[in-house]
Parts: sequence; structure tokens; C-alpha cells
Amino acid sequence: MQMVQKTITREMTLQGIGVHLGKPATVTLKPAPAHHGIVFVRKDLPNSPAIEAHYRNVVNTQMATTLGSGGVTLSTTEHLLAALHGFGIDNLLVEVNGPELPILDGSSAPFCRAILEAGVTAQNAPRTTLVLKKKVEVKVDEKWAVAEPSPHFEVFGSIDWDHPLIGFQQFHYIEGKTDFAEIASARTFGFLKDVEKLKKLGLALGGSLDNAVVLNEALVLNPEGLRYPDEFARHKVLDSLGDFKLAGIPIQAKFKMHRAGHDLHKQILLEIFKDASNYEIVEGVREARPETKAKVAALGSYRPAV
Ligand SMILES: [Zn+2]
Repeated sequence: MQMVQKTITREMTLQGIGVHLGKPATVTLKPAPAHHGIVFVRKDLPNSPAIEAHYRNVVNTQMATTLGSGGVTLSTTEHLLAALHGFGIDNLLVEVNGPELPILDGSSAPFCRAILEAGVTAQNAPRTTLVLKKKVEVKVDEKWAVAEPSPHFEVFGSIDWDHPLIGFQQFHYIEGKTDFAEIASARTFGFLKDVEKLKKLGLALGGSLDNAVVLNEALVLNPEGLRYPDEFARHKVLDSLGDFKLAGIPIQAKFKMHRAGHDLHKQILLEIFKDASNYEIVEGVREARPETKAKVAALGSYRPAV
């Protein structure tokens, strides 16, 4: 199957709260023409300024990926972008009514359900892919990310937290082999002591057990428990898929990452794009992605516990 660009078939709106300000947040996904890319629009501001979903526009990576352009910012973009990766959506207009996307359940699953309902339309334009030619790496203290040439897009992510329920965890996502549903519903996580600290600083005001896995020293505080024993590692991989969507082009490479986060994801992209001899831009690479509907079918029946 030839790779062509994709958008959604009809518009779809999701409402929730923003995790940082704790205020209502609405996002509307709208179909966009070929070669448009993923573009966010702040409908709440005069002249509706636009921010392109691009790694050059990453202005903050503390707790979430915040994009900005011309002094206008938008936070918590990564879970929607991960869902767009999962469905292979290249072109989309994303209208928001405030400075952050709704956090919803802290995963990509609600975005996936919305896209599934909206439908996916193949467009009459070829999709290009960045094929990595050389090994590229970034290391910051004990955190590192390596990108290597590979016949697939792959992410091999590991974490190591000194916590009885986390410890060392890893998850290996291989495009076309791993079902995106395996990571789509993995939620973001945090520690109670940090949440309390952040709230005192006026941050994470919307954070709750409805939109994150919260742990104390020994336990998960969410009454429904974990969705997977390795939900933490799955979420890390999900975050990286969202951040790598900011390359603006699908990447064919294997990423191996340990204790990575939004900042390292941005840095490895910068490292790849720093030298044009690191990669080749190829048109018409074979589609490694299974049909969207089959891939997220599991999400249709998935209902988070409340
Ligand atoms: Zn996340």
C-alpha cells in the first residue's frame, strides 16, 4: 500500500479541563488539506494565532510539551499528537479555547475514540518519510536517547524509578507489529508528594485521580488501580510518539531511550535534524501501519473505571 497523507473525515470536539490551570478546556479537530501539517489555533485570542506542531516551536518541556510561537503558547499537546501518530494523521487543524489542551483521562484513548468516530480520510498526496542513515545519540546525566537506522519506526523505552510499584520497566513498540491500542490508554503518572508541592505553587491545579495515576510511597491511590502493570513504561513510550510527531514527518528509525522525557525527545530530534547527512527523505515508503480500525478496535470497548 502506497503511503498517502491522511486527515480526519469530519470535525470533532472534546471537552475537559486543563491539568495545569484546572479550567475548562475545549479542543476541536478539523479536517485540513494535503501538505497543511498539524496546526494549533488559539481561538480565544485576538486574530486566532496559529502554532505549527513542530519541534522548533517547543518552548517548555516541564511536565508537558508546550508549543509556542510569537509569544503565544499551548501546553499538554503530547497525548493528542500521539493519537495522531497512531492513526497516521498528517493534516489537521486543531482549534483550542485556551492555553492548554484538555487532559481528559491522562492518556490518548479519548482522542483515539474521537478520531475513530470522526473517520480517517486518505488524501491524494504522497507521504514522505525521514529514513535515518546514521546513529545519533543524546545523553543528559543518567538519561539517554539513541536513534539508529532500522527498517521500522520503533521505540524501545525503559524507566527506572525507586518505587516498589515501578522499579525497572520497559516497553518495545514496533510500528506495524505493536497494536497502538497497547499504549493508547496508558495514563500519565505522578507522586502525591509532588502533586501537593505543585498545587502549592499554583501548578497542576486540575490534576486528580481522574486524569493521572497517583502514587504515594507504597501504593497506587486510584481506586481502579493500574490499567497495565507496566502502565508507566507504556505511557513513556506514548509520550515519545507524541513528541516525535513534532518532526513534521514520519521517521523510520529505532529509538532506544532510558529515563527519557519531553526534553530528551526534543533534543534527539534536534540532533537528527542538525546534520542533513544523518537522514534521507524518501517518498512512497511501504505502509507498515495496519488498518486504523483494526488497530484501535480494542479501544472501542475499553471503558476506564471511575
Ligand atoms: Zn504524557
